[in-house]
Amino acid sequence: MNEITFSPSAPGYWGPAKVSPSDWNSAKWQLKNRVSTLAEIEKHLTLCDEERAGILLTGTKLATAITPHYFNLIHPTDPDCPIRRQVIPRIEETHTDPSEMADPCGEDSHMPVPGLVHRYPDRVLFLVTDRCAAYCRYCTRSRVVSGVSDQKLETQWDKAIDYLKNTPQVRDVLLSGGDPLLFSDSKLERLLSKLHAIPHIQFIRIGSRIPIFLPQRITPELCAMLKKFHPLFLSIHSNHPDELTTEVRDGLGRLADAGIVMGNQSVLLERVNDSVEVQKKLVQKLLMCRVRPYYLYQGDLIQGTAHLRTDIAKGIEIIEGLRGHTSGYAIPQYVVDAPGGGGKIPVNPQYIVESNDQQTILRNYEGKQFTYPTTQLPKKSVL
Ligand code: SF4
Repeated sequence: MNEITFSPSAPGYWGPAKVSPSDWNSAKWQLKNRVSTLAEIEKHLTLCDEERAGILLTGTKLATAITPHYFNLIHPTDPDCPIRRQVIPRIEETHTDPSEMADPCGEDSHMPVPGLVHRYPDRVLFLVTDRCAAYCRYCTRSRVVSGVSDQKLETQWDKAIDYLKNTPQVRDVLLSGGDPLLFSDSKLERLLSKLHAIPHIQFIRIGSRIPIFLPQRITPELCAMLKKFHPLFLSIHSNHPDELTTEVRDGLGRLADAGIVMGNQSVLLERVNDSVEVQKKLVQKLLMCRVRPYYLYQGDLIQGTAHLRTDIAKGIEIIEGLRGHTSGYAIPQYVVDAPGGGGKIPVNPQYIVESNDQQTILRNYEGKQFTYPTTQLPKKSVL
């Protein structure tokens, strides 16, 4: 029997009993009523000392903001709630390990114009905004995202578009930030039109956590606008199966119906999703939402995130626990984004037991061993 179920964002603190359905289903209302102060959070959650101190002290690093939709998923008393750990600051964020960096992926040093990261030959990352619907405590771009730290994102759209027009080797543009789906439909359409009009740009990708934080934003109007810009890919960001509510599933369904190809990028986080059981449920639910698990990221070495990171061995153990135990479509590629800017490095369990000139011994997901010839025999004509 399939035990996977979808539930609505519980009508708890903010549910329909207290809010009209039209407000609740409005992205504008959700954004206007984001939870962001200690007083608002404490109205609904019992906080531990580490959380209370964290909320008070982290305001100059990365803002706190949580949509009511997402806030409703937080357990009111459990500090280990996997949803809570992603968005409620903790005092540990003020501790910096010597291995940690402000810009661990080396993005700032690969910007030919402000806001446009050109690291790989044929693709670019275009940071179009520094705002998100809610803020993840492990954000790779916490140095600029949310607008409260000293460093500001100073994207110059016209310069970026000119650079892209004059750089014919770029065939793939990833819009990210911040969250591009926070733009109004008309603003996003203007940007997509400019990119779509550049002949050598073959496809556009959008990275967004809005389908998870703010599924009310995934309106039929948005989907109808996006579908004008195919091939259009969307990388969503879900880390835990409880994030995949009925509202999220329905929003993703609208995007899929509009022909948007979707993949999920999740981050491996301690006491959030660092078990095979949670990851298996996540990837299976994603497939039911018509989203293919794409990457599982080892946590970047962001300042103040050691309490959320796991060992690399944990990621390997998870992939090993998925491969062969569930559909191949459900298995993400586990990657380490090389500290300092070396790009994504795939990391896999070792399935080759031994290899010499004659034979390669492999093991399968059950640990059984199989032999395959290392070198193929010269091909002979059969005529
Ligand atoms: S949604 Fe993405 S960019 Fe925004 S805070 Fe989360 S990880 Fe960072």
